Amino acid sequence: MNVAQVPLVDYLRLGEGEPHLVVHECQGCGARYFDRRNACARCTGDAFERAPVAREGVVVSFSIVSVAPPGLEVPFVAVMVDCGGTLVKGNLRGTAPEIDNVRLGLPVRLTTYSLGVDPTGAEGVGFAFVPADAGERDV
Ligand SMILES: [Zn+2]
Repeated sequence: MNVAQVPLVDYLRLGEGEPHLVVHECQGCGARYFDRRNACARCTGDAFERAPVAREGVVVSFSIVSVAPPGLEVPFVAVMVDCGGTLVKGNLRGTAPEIDNVRLGLPVRLTTYSLGVDPTGAEGVGFAFVPADAGERDV
């Protein structure tokens, strides 16, 4: 059975080559936004085009989260990743959420994971980052 995949966020693209993120890029100054804008906050331009975000990056900030609302499994590692100049917020998976496993400058790459399948057979798909040397093991 072929399962329809539904990305968790609009800026996660599935089924167009490798899963990747896309931004709205200002044609006036190159500023990048994940959400749709009527005007650029940097230059006030109003022309945007979709642009892909690099699938690889480095951790520029992180926090090991140990308190979260009910239903969220803790601890987990929230990261800010510089993907070729585009900052992306996400979580680090594929490694235990311990201070010895994450550091500033850690090379990471984008990955996707299943959020589950609904009664219609549609699978929700989220994105995260894994250490670049994590291989293809499940995250
Ligand atoms: Zn701009």
